[in-house]
Amino acid sequence: MWYNGGVLIQPNTRIKEAIIMPVYRQSQYTTTDPTGQAVDLTEPLQDKRPNGRPQPWHLHRDQANLLAVAYRILGDEDRAHRVDGCAPRLTFAADDTGHLKLRNAWFCRVRLCPVCQWRRSLKVFGQTSQIIQAANASRRGGYQWIMLTLTIRNVDPDELPTALTHMSQSWHRLIKTKKWTDAVIGWQRATEITHNVDPDSTWYNTYHPHYHVLLCVEPSYFNGRKYIPQAEWTAMWRAAARTDYDPMVNIHKIYGSTPAAIAEVSKYATKPADYLTPWDVDAMADAVRVLSSALHRRRLLAYGGLCKELHAKLGLDDVDTGDLVHTDNADETTAAEAALVAYSWIPGYRQYYRNIER
Ligand SMILES: [Zn+2]
Repeated sequence: MWYNGGVLIQPNTRIKEAIIMPVYRQSQYTTTDPTGQAVDLTEPLQDKRPNGRPQPWHLHRDQANLLAVAYRILGDEDRAHRVDGCAPRLTFAADDTGHLKLRNAWFCRVRLCPVCQWRRSLKVFGQTSQIIQAANASRRGGYQWIMLTLTIRNVDPDELPTALTHMSQSWHRLIKTKKWTDAVIGWQRATEITHNVDPDSTWYNTYHPHYHVLLCVEPSYFNGRKYIPQAEWTAMWRAAARTDYDPMVNIHKIYGSTPAAIAEVSKYATKPADYLTPWDVDAMADAVRVLSSALHRRRLLAYGGLCKELHAKLGLDDVDTGDLVHTDNADETTAAEAALVAYSWIPGYRQYYRNIER
């Protein structure tokens, strides 16, 4: 018998049915979490960022259940168990405006976990923003920032590990070229892998590894002799990757504010929608197997030049091993902060509810 975050799966139950099994909602206002803590069902978690954007904890936590199912199908009970136990209770400090600030939670740190991936991407977003700010403040007139996307052709599942190694070697060849070292002052590189899950596509079940790179260049870059046009970037990446075709390369200047570009380099590895496909559990398990093994012990976020120096100077921790509770690095503790409030994940209701204090 399997325990799928509160939904018991009998050995004979079709997994698809177990996942979408409707939950009978009791007509009472309290229930208990798996540890026996009472919760108030009239108070679901409503965590919003200071800009008002809702933080969809329950959606990420719900997707984590699917990942645990995939690991169980693969016989990886250890990872399934860790993912099942990810973020069971969230403790926040609430200020007098009702704004919540996460103070304590346990995260499983399994690389494909949707909750942990989301926390990591928030963290990278915060760190990248700080690096850009610090870099621009360090030089009169600041710097110019560019987004560079480097790709190779889609690969079959079994070719993914080799493709990632090949891309990494190609990258090291690229950043040693004279054109690169002349023009690029700093860089931040994120690895993303997309997976085609559309059975009608000719590229179905192929993987597309690519790099999103944020480049720091001098403000005079676009008018100076160090400028590298699009065709030249393609030629440089083709030579570095030693391909017999022109790989897709995209480059664009970042104007004004940079949140969209920062979001690009803050993507963390793979979108859960690219491997959590409950309508086809066999394909889902296979994608989880392929990605878990291809990403194992691989560095997905890298820094160089000025960005690397500032990452160290600002004391930013490593996103793979660092704290996932405090994602914005800023200590917003204020005197107005009131008592701590805790919310528990109630699997059958697929939501977090406020703990009732005894
Ligand atoms: Zn997790």
